[in-house]
Order: sequence, then C-alpha cells, then structure tokens
Amino acid sequence: MRDDRNYKKSNKITEVGFSISEKSFDLAQKIIKSIGVDERQELSVDLLDELCDLAKIDIVQVEILAKNQKHRKKDGKVVMRQYGYYQPDKQIITITNQTAVRGAHLAGKTFLNTLLHEWVHHYDTFALKLISIHSKGFYLRLNHIEKQLRYGRDNI
Ligand SMILES: [Zn+2]
Repeated sequence: MRDDRNYKKSNKITEVGFSISEKSFDLAQKIIKSIGVDERQELSVDLLDELCDLAKIDIVQVEILAKNQKHRKKDGKVVMRQYGYYQPDKQIITITNQTAVRGAHLAGKTFLNTLLHEWVHHYDTFALKLISIHSKGFYLRLNHIEKQLRYGRDNI
C-alpha cells in the first residue's frame, strides 16, 4: 500500500514548486556551452547549490567523472548505459562525462539533462518526501525545470 501511495503522489505532481532565478538560468546556459570535466564540475556545483536554495532543501554534492559511461553490450550493440546516479543516503550525484564506447565528451544539452535528472531524484527525496521513482510525474517535473533553464522561465 505504501508503494502505491508513493507512486500516486509521484505521478500527481507535474511541476517543481518554484520558478528559476536568473542566476540559475545563466549557469545552465554556460553548462550547455561547456565541455571539459573541470569546467562542468564547477558549474554543476553552482547550479545545484542555487536550485537547492530555490527549492529550500539541503544541498547535494556532485562529482563529474572523466570516465566513460558504464554500459552493457549485447551482440556488439550497447543495450544499457548509465549516465549518472544519485545516492539519497549520502546525498551525492555522480555523472560520467564521456560517452560509453568512444569516450567523447557528452554534448552540453545531454549533460544538462543528466544533471537535472539526478537532481530531480534529490528534489523528490527531500522536497516531496518521496521514494524517487521514474513515474510519468517524475519526467514532467524534470521537463518543467529543464525547459525553464533552457528557454527562460517566461518562455515556457
Ligand atoms: Zn533516474
């Protein structure tokens, strides 16, 4: 029953409960244009600190690794790849900055999407008090914050 309530609540909330700041918009724009791991590390810390402030939750640590994404292959094709993960007990987000096979830097928009995906898990855990799952509502919340940061809060 508890799982069912968690799922229903997760699905029902379709937006994050705040509007972004100008500072977070600027940081997101810089992240989209960034490439290297050091630059992304610094910008990610600043962006997530700002988002946690806006959401009035504890800050989350973030580490960006200069490593290829973990992946699994089947018949020579990549069937699973891990962009990043969030550890709620330690409040840490980890993201690998390089593609699974070729080891190229993640495209800026892909990197931002990955960072925000993991951050919404943190938001779910501490702002919404949920066991954060990939419900339809989760993806709508992600979309809400991502669109604001990419296009500006007045343009969505
Ligand atoms: Zn996830």
